[in-house]
Order: sequence, then structure tokens, then C-alpha cells
Amino acid sequence: MDLLKKRILEEGRVVGEEVLKVDSFLNHQIDPELFQEIGKEFYNRFKDKNITKLLTIEASGIAIAVVAGLYFKVPVVFAKKSKSRNLDTDTYKSEVYSFTKQTTYDIEVSKRYIKPEDHILILDDFLANGKAAQGLIDIVNQAGATLEGIGIVIEKGFQKGGQQLRDQKIHLESLAIVDRFTNGQVTFLKG
Ligand code: 5GP
Repeated sequence: MDLLKKRILEEGRVVGEEVLKVDSFLNHQIDPELFQEIGKEFYNRFKDKNITKLLTIEASGIAIAVVAGLYFKVPVVFAKKSKSRNLDTDTYKSEVYSFTKQTTYDIEVSKRYIKPEDHILILDDFLANGKAAQGLIDIVNQAGATLEGIGIVIEKGFQKGGQQLRDQKIHLESLAIVDRFTNGQVTFLKG
């Protein structure tokens, strides 16, 4: 997705060896017009699947999934990271190791909102080692629902998450795949 890659090149900041900061349009300040294009692109890539629900994880995934949900015309469910008193007690739960915070946390989804008859598309902002995605897949499997695919805004191709998902024969679509960081500069893999 050229528009997204342009923004990454113009505004992305490489932190250390492995982290890309895109706070100016994705993770802190949000660009609604770019998100509209992102939502439309996910829809175009998955519109042939019979998606009944989008699943993401708080916080950054929510805005992406809501915009995409306007195109798919299906509800958006987000996995909650912390225990909330508002959350139903009957939940699907999984454990995720956070790449950015380097700690493990639980994610939970109420059993009310994913049913065995659902066809799920998982959406998230970044794919690094795939722990968040694997946690969400675990929840889809616990619910007995069908995973139709995973859509990622930025995949870091030099980390192992993408390869693992493709090895699992999961339909993975990443809108930009970062090949490497060279002297603080981003280069992309293809497309
Ligand atoms: P994973 O679970 O695939 O190892 O990491 C994915 C999660 O970590 C994403 O949901 C995202 O929040 C965060 N993350 C991983 N790498 C980056 C990065 O380079 N930049 C930002 N902003 N977030 C990242």
C-alpha cells in the first residue's frame, strides 16, 4: 500500500534494532483519512470471505478495526488486556508476551461476542514475533469459530511472526512489510 509506505518513510522513526515508531499517524496521533484507506484495503483483500466479525486487541487495533468494520459492515470485538469489573466473568482467555513492554499479560473476550458460527478476521497494527496474533487465534479456536485470515498494517519481515503464520497456512495480508532498518532507514520487502 503505497500511501502507507510513504507515510512510514516520511514519519517513521527507528528505535534501537527492532522498533518502528509511527506515533504521528498510527499509535498516538491518528490520521482518519489514512485509516479510511487502510480499512478499505483490508476490505478489498478479504471481501471474498464471508467475514461475520472483526477481532482485534486494545488499544491501537481498535481504531483500525472500527474503520475496517464500516466497510465489512460487521461488528468489531476487541480483546481486553486488563481485568475490568465490567467484563463478563465467562470469557475466553489467552496469555500474550508483549514485544513492546516485555512482560506477559492476559487477554480476554466475553463468550457472548464470539460464537462457533462466526467467521473471524483478526486485525492489528504491527506484527513482530506474532505473540499477539497467536493469542487472538487461540481465542478464536477456543470459541470454535472459523479463522478466515489476519490483516496487519505493518509487518516487520525480519521477525518471525509472519513466517510462523504463513507456515500455519493462515491467510495473512500485511499492508507494508518492512525488510530491514539500515542506519535508521526503513526498507520494504515488496509490492
Ligand atoms: P508481536 O506480538 O507480533 O510480537 O508484537 C505485536 C504487537 O507489539 C503489536 O500489537 C504492537 O502493539 C506491538 N509492536 C511490535 N513491534 C512494534 C513496533 O516496531 N512498533 C510499534 N509501535 N509497536 C510494535
